Amino acid sequence: MKLEDLNKLASSYDSAGTMPVLFVGHGSPMNAIEDNVFSRKWAEIGKKLPKPKAILSVSAHWETKGVHVTAMKHPKTIHDFGGFPQELFEVEYPAAGSPELASETADLLRPAEVLPDQNWGLDHGSWSVLKRMYPMADVPVLQLSLDYARSPESHYLLAKELALLREKGVLILGSGNLVHNLRMVAWDRLNEPGVGYDWALEADGKMKQLILAGNHKALIDFRSQGRAFDLAIPTPEHFLPLLYILGLKKDHEQIEFFNEQAVAGSLTMTSLKIG
Ligand code: ZN
Repeated sequence: MKLEDLNKLASSYDSAGTMPVLFVGHGSPMNAIEDNVFSRKWAEIGKKLPKPKAILSVSAHWETKGVHVTAMKHPKTIHDFGGFPQELFEVEYPAAGSPELASETADLLRPAEVLPDQNWGLDHGSWSVLKRMYPMADVPVLQLSLDYARSPESHYLLAKELALLREKGVLILGSGNLVHNLRMVAWDRLNEPGVGYDWALEADGKMKQLILAGNHKALIDFRSQGRAFDLAIPTPEHFLPLLYILGLKKDHEQIEFFNEQAVAGSLTMTSLKIG
């Protein structure tokens, strides 16, 4: 083997270490096109992370009966919101899919039945963040749905079966919000970062403590954590992607928080990178 080839091989091994996992608080879809502290941080993280071979996104915005994985070659960009400027509806994120990785993912999750999907695509939980992280859309993206019949613990355990994907250079992204109560949003204060109700800040702070302490059990059992958690998680879909990311954490791995801010009273953008 030539020296040049050996070097190439060595560098491919270097970059083939375990991929970090991310939980990203996505907040308003406008973050896809607004230049703000959150979207700037997403861009920075995209530059810092090792370039993934593919991305598997667990988005709050895709809940299904049973577990589905997008399996088309070219997922469409889904504009799953209303009342935003036309400019946002014109955003396309033309990342490729990967039918091969979809079938590999389904194999890993067996005996759970994972249905290959040809109809969904990329919802804004995925593309609003990825548009900033990987603006060239040059990394294939798949979505894994949230099966609404599963218990929080069963989401957490399902995630563990995906661990091998990290070794293969796949970035697993959970996209939701730790604190997400749309009914209580202070719509008139949307553009004032740092505005959080007491209960929102309390829940966000306690969640961070439990994450750092490795107390996943308490987070899985979020319904028993009192009033602040009940207000922060009125419905589970924005919180559950966190459980996927925690399920994938290895014992020794570091946790780094970013975008630790409340917005509009009842949302927090708190995000974390593991590994
Ligand atoms: Zn959302």
